[in-house]
Amino acid sequence: MPLMRSWIASANRPDTDFPLNNLPCGVFSRDGGEPRCGVAIGDMILDVTGMEDVGLLHLADDPVLDVPFWNEVMDLGPDAWTRLRILLLGFLGEGSEVKSQVERFLSPQAGATMYLPFLVSEYTDFYAGRHHAFNVGSMFRDPANALPPNWLHIPIGYNGRASSVVVSGTDVRRPLGQLRPPGSEAPVFGPSQRFDFELEMGAVVGRPSQGMVSVAEADAMIFGYVLLNDWSARDIQAWEYQPLGPFQSKATATTISPWIVTRAALESFRCAGPDRDVPLLPYLREPRPMLYDIALEVALAPEGKAETVISRTNYREMYYSAAQQLAHHTTSGCPMNVGDLLGSGTISGPDKGNRGSLLELSWGGKEPVTLDGGETRSFLADGDTVVMRGACQGDGYRIGFGSCTGRLLPSLPVPDWAR
Ligand code: MN
Repeated sequence: MPLMRSWIASANRPDTDFPLNNLPCGVFSRDGGEPRCGVAIGDMILDVTGMEDVGLLHLADDPVLDVPFWNEVMDLGPDAWTRLRILLLGFLGEGSEVKSQVERFLSPQAGATMYLPFLVSEYTDFYAGRHHAFNVGSMFRDPANALPPNWLHIPIGYNGRASSVVVSGTDVRRPLGQLRPPGSEAPVFGPSQRFDFELEMGAVVGRPSQGMVSVAEADAMIFGYVLLNDWSARDIQAWEYQPLGPFQSKATATTISPWIVTRAALESFRCAGPDRDVPLLPYLREPRPMLYDIALEVALAPEGKAETVISRTNYREMYYSAAQQLAHHTTSGCPMNVGDLLGSGTISGPDKGNRGSLLELSWGGKEPVTLDGGETRSFLADGDTVVMRGACQGDGYRIGFGSCTGRLLPSLPVPDWAR
């Protein structure tokens, strides 16, 4: 698929994240106004709430864009998602006949405030990156048996907290928690000393499940994808995780990028996952490729300093796709709903420079990462900003996700009664 040209010049530049081929969905406000739904195009935002309000954009009998989230559009189903995309291509494509009517609904992305693009119904985080699972298993258990016996058969996950999901740009506070300092037998209560990020993709579920769904049906239920940072307190995690898995270590915050890149926009970048060591059970088999070729990077910027890119990897490294995870999720009878968010699991690649967390990059703190300017990091320091970016590279254009950023604030003091 070549670049689709727009009459908005910035959308035709090869380095924009948001050419006409992309058309991601977000929620924004300007000048203290009410948050509204928008679509990114080049360096502008199209105010689709405003367009629906004046009757230029019609998706359903009742308004669906008069609320500051995209759940009602998702609720209309895939035919409406396709219709919206076709309408937007008509409005914004080169030679548009309604350019003069559409123009007044455009405003610059610069200076806009972004919000969570959808109401997060529930949040599940998976552990589906093989290199990540191998690295973590090697560090915490044994390199000879790094993968748990179930890992090649089942997409492992845990139920997270929807309330902890925040939009890119939101500050994150270093958590307090119960942890066991190195060399100590007894736990203490205090600030996490090993606070970390995890580079992930988030899949946004746009349709409710009716009973158990196949992988193909699950794929069709996914509205789109965002970048996701699963902030993780490694010391709290190491102490709490057995036998029920992560709990408080993952509940501080999960940051997502502000633009949902739709499945339709990613279609040309579909690719197969890795070869399977053992065949999957039939209910998890993929009838066609279900991953995407999305180049990803993580940068770290100490307070007031320039950033250093510390990891580069790709979403195609995942062993399980979001469609497989969603299909697996429904096997229990667990209802999946519009607005459910599925974290992919940390996306690491085969080499050291492809690792998607500081835990892996610094190998548990043994090999600190050196930043430009000479500072080193084993885990995050107060004031650090973590920036994640991702894009599919097309021929002369890219389908980008924008960025997923968060700055780490110092922990609050331990209250006197908790000492
Ligand atoms: Mn995670």
